[in-house]
Amino acid sequence: MSELEHNLRAVQQRITDAAARAHRDANAITLVAVTKTFPVETILAAHALGIRHFGENRVEEAASKIPIVNSQIVPSPITWHMIGHLQSRKVKATLPLFDFVHSVDSVALARRLNDHAQGLGKRLPILLEVNVSGEATKYGFAPTPREPFFDAAREIASLPYLDAQGLMTIAPIVARPVEARPYFRALRELRDELRARFPERAWQHLSMGMTDDFEVAIAEGATIVRIGRAIFGERH
Ligand SMILES: *Cc1c(COP(=O)(O)O)cnc(C)c1O
Repeated sequence: MSELEHNLRAVQQRITDAAARAHRDANAITLVAVTKTFPVETILAAHALGIRHFGENRVEEAASKIPIVNSQIVPSPITWHMIGHLQSRKVKATLPLFDFVHSVDSVALARRLNDHAQGLGKRLPILLEVNVSGEATKYGFAPTPREPFFDAAREIASLPYLDAQGLMTIAPIVARPVEARPYFRALRELRDELRARFPERAWQHLSMGMTDDFEVAIAEGATIVRIGRAIFGERH
């Protein structure tokens, strides 16, 4: 077994175990393999091992890799997730590459995505990124006070070429994974309020949990975990 396969099976087992501990169905949790900094060959190898969801965080890097991967796997069953901060001026290049954008962090960005999605005639699944910890280094909507956040969510949910499916967050770096748990819980609680407020949408997704903290994120209801290092090794 290759090191990649070994790592991947170990991560999948940990997801299954974390779901079981939380009395959740592991099939309801999507593993997004985060391939930033890793080459096309690594992505193809992970695809051959059954991975169908990949995450990238930079548009330029994605533009140099995604078309090559897609051209080698026809028809491509891959869902490409944009998980990094997206500048407005890169929206045009983003749309043809990605199938799902996790990092919508302003109404202006959402409007721009909507306009370009309309131009391509596609409806784009998105998540609202929330800066739960309030760290200045992080992007995302402030979850408090609630009203401005709900106003933004209402407007974004009304954009016809976007399909707002939930929330995404990045927890702070902490010494022990359990210390990240309150941030994941806060995102879930915010989602539950959002759902009560705007029940016409399911707001079904919580994209939360990375290599160091995905098990506690699953305990708090993560439906999408974004994992890089535990599968592909350290980035250089
Ligand atoms: C890099 C990255 C990940 C994956 O991080 P790992 O620690 O390698 O698992 C997840 N989410 C985002 C937004 C990232 O930029």
